[in-house]
Amino acid sequence: MGDHILTERPLTITPTTIPMPHFAKSLINLGLTEGQRGRAIFDQWEHAFLLPCFERLDAETQTAFLDLVNSHREDGSGPILGVIRTNGFEVAGVVDPEPNGEYAAVCKIICSPSADRLFDIPSFSFQLRATRNIKAGDEIFVSYCNVLEPAADRQEYLASYGITCACTSCTPDTIASDKRRLALRASIDAIDDDFDTWLADPLLADNYTIKISLRWIGVIEQEALEASDAYRHHLHAIVRAYVALGDGENAVKYGRMLGLWALGQSGKEDMLRRMENLEYLRGRSDWEMRVCVDHEEAQDSGGWTD
Ligand SMILES: [Zn+2]
Repeated sequence: MGDHILTERPLTITPTTIPMPHFAKSLINLGLTEGQRGRAIFDQWEHAFLLPCFERLDAETQTAFLDLVNSHREDGSGPILGVIRTNGFEVAGVVDPEPNGEYAAVCKIICSPSADRLFDIPSFSFQLRATRNIKAGDEIFVSYCNVLEPAADRQEYLASYGITCACTSCTPDTIASDKRRLALRASIDAIDDDFDTWLADPLLADNYTIKISLRWIGVIEQEALEASDAYRHHLHAIVRAYVALGDGENAVKYGRMLGLWALGQSGKEDMLRRMENLEYLRGRSDWEMRVCVDHEEAQDSGGWTD
């Protein structure tokens, strides 16, 4: 988890939208319908903005670009805009652009991704990082959609890219998988309340919130959703609980998993370095915030040690 898989420069970077207020107004004045205006704007975008940039790419890059999948052939998008709309990934941290990463062509789309992408500004390149352990020779999967949405919503979104996902969560396991994913999404909202209740009630077992989050992490692993935010929330809940219990060994153990998750998402090691550092965890204001009320019982039922 968190390991670097590949780095690649985007083929091109372009703004996600190009404002054309005067052109749009002139189309209204011409009395065109909304559909006609949309097509005219796509045409202007293609020929006035994208084509001159495309022509400055070398021949090899032009060929690689046009070989990418285009699922926008029927909606008025020109060939360049169609490829961008199909394959472009958002470049976080740069004004508002949308690049085409060539590696998009080598990753299969699935609702249980094993890798996530991020844009690294200093090297101006995309990085693909593992979001769970990947065996040598395994195919690498990325996701295009919100993986905690129900299968029908995911399919509808993917259809706009011409993708029909045939992963096990989309079919044939749809109903059971949807139930798990929706419950998982709802579980995130309960984390803070459970934690506060546990802190305030000395009669609850020491591992009360830890057991809850470990159960959800089991669901996450079952659905292979380690790339989702739910994984971060539940790992964080476990770290917080161990910190409140003053259990450094387990706080570091789960803190390390949380740090690797963050590394996979951001390419940055700051959180990993902090979470692996017992002194940092011991220095937190919530260290030993909860007094162990029934040590033996908690150990028997939850299996944590201090
Ligand atoms: Zn799927």
